[in-house]
Amino acid sequence: MDEYEIAVIGGGPAGIMAAIAASQNSSNVILLEKNSSLGRKLLMSGGGRCNITNQKPIKKLLNVYPQKNFLKHSFFTFTNEMLLSIFEDKGLNFIEEDDNRIFPESEKSKDVLNILTDYLDSVVISYNLEVKSIERGFIINDNIKADKVIVATGGITYPQTGCSPDNYFLTSQPVTDIKYGLAPLITKKDLSSIAGITLFDVVVSYKKHKVKGNVLFSHVGLTGPAIINLSNEISEVLTYNLLENEPKLDFEIAIDLCPNLSRDDLHEKFNSDFQLKGKTMLKNYLKMFLTNSFIEFFLNEINLDGELQLSRVNKKSKNRLIENLKRFTFEITDFNKDLAKVTIGGVDLDNINPKTMESTLIPNLYFAGEVLDLHGPTGGYNLKIAFSTGYLAGMSASEK
Ligand SMILES: Cc1cc2nc3c(=O)[nH]c(=O)nc-3n(C[C@H](O)[C@H](O)[C@H](O)COP(=O)(O)OP(=O)(O)OC[C@H]3O[C@@H](n4cnc5c(N)ncnc54)[C@H](O)[C@@H]3O)c2cc1C
Repeated sequence: MDEYEIAVIGGGPAGIMAAIAASQNSSNVILLEKNSSLGRKLLMSGGGRCNITNQKPIKKLLNVYPQKNFLKHSFFTFTNEMLLSIFEDKGLNFIEEDDNRIFPESEKSKDVLNILTDYLDSVVISYNLEVKSIERGFIINDNIKADKVIVATGGITYPQTGCSPDNYFLTSQPVTDIKYGLAPLITKKDLSSIAGITLFDVVVSYKKHKVKGNVLFSHVGLTGPAIINLSNEISEVLTYNLLENEPKLDFEIAIDLCPNLSRDDLHEKFNSDFQLKGKTMLKNYLKMFLTNSFIEFFLNEINLDGELQLSRVNKKSKNRLIENLKRFTFEITDFNKDLAKVTIGGVDLDNINPKTMESTLIPNLYFAGEVLDLHGPTGGYNLKIAFSTGYLAGMSASEK
């Protein structure tokens, strides 16, 4: 039997960072990866550009996470400065884009993965090794023994990257409901005629949950940052568990197409503009409020003739127009499951020490990354979880 001080299971960003951190204090670390290469999901991240983290000040950053109290210690232990310096020391610099999103200057996730792999010099890496059992002691797959184990097997989405629901049963650690996160939504209505069109800075809502941002129409429904962030909130309030059943979706979401103007503002503006610009056609007037290529679809949906001159729009039509500008609805039939970027739910945080990432139920067993009940919105927030919890787990396990 091969013996190690620390075995890290899963070679994604959380497991790689855990192995790097552990190897700073221990020369006897093994990283076990099911695939023939490391970091498949990391390579896909940010559309291949890798939105590696988010550069908001740490307190603001923590505020975006539902589990901010749990994450606090790991974020303060392994800061963005520490993360980025790992790469900068090897010549890879970073750029900041809107909403404080950080990308490598080369815009290649492969460069991020290559540098991380460089730091694994003193770690034994076993590829094509799927962990199927962890017995007491810890005996892994009946032939590897480790004093401490760090589980970093990720969530369930994009199974082609190595994720699997089976991993939640590798240990007896309690697991919360497992759900889709950051998923586009499938609409009842066929939107292929407007696929590719973006609505900028609108507000999407589901019940009392609201998210501001861009919405993109796809052939099967709605996507874009505002929609996929809203999908997290939808998933959180729906009761389902992918380890047992699929969600059944049948509800409405609404888009406020003019979030900067209230209904009263619009009434006032329309009353004055419709008199002053009486000869302007409705479809031309609406360019002031809507993405040009969306106007025809919008007017068709609400049964208004775009060729109508403003002076001829009657009160009822004006009211319908305002109501739909403020609340344009779509019926949703499903999450676009194949494109869900993260998993909501995971190993229950109630049984994990946030200062070390060690299980409070099984000593010397640690967890890191998406396998835990941790998730954030789109914008570099999920890799941030993986790197910070991975580092803390690796450090804690090697210092114990
Ligand atoms: C398309 C896409 C784009 C994304 N873009 C971004 C982005 O730009 N920014 C951002 O912050 N987040 C992004 N995310 C989310 C982010 O990639 C994940 O949150 C992150 O990869 C989670 O890291 P992890 O190490 O916990 O899990 P994973 O990256 O899933 O890694 C888990 C690893 O464990 C291995 N493994 C699993 N089970 C076993 C087993 N039993 N035995 C051995 N090995 C096993 C897997 O093969 C895999 O290599 C994106 C996700 C997707 C799907």
